[in-house]
Amino acid sequence: MYCGRCGEALDAGAHERCAAALRLEPPRFCSACRRRMKVQVTPMGWTATCVAHGDLRSRLEAPGPPAG
Ligand SMILES: [Zn+2]
Ligand SMILES: [Zn+2]
Repeated sequence: MYCGRCGEALDAGAHERCAAALRLEPPRFCSACRRRMKVQVTPMGWTATCVAHGDLRSRLEAPGPPAG
């Protein structure tokens, strides 16, 4: 497993700051393969795409049904 923010191995050091940052911003690296991810920021949050592992999305709660 790799750190999504700095790309280093998670067990190679402390990543407390990284973990805190990742609550606010999308990861830059895939935690599985360390590839650089393609990040798209959307009004709802963000989507990060790894060419090998697919999409990763922010864990914001899904919007409710449209108010009508
Ligand atoms: Zn890190
Ligand atoms: Zn990957």
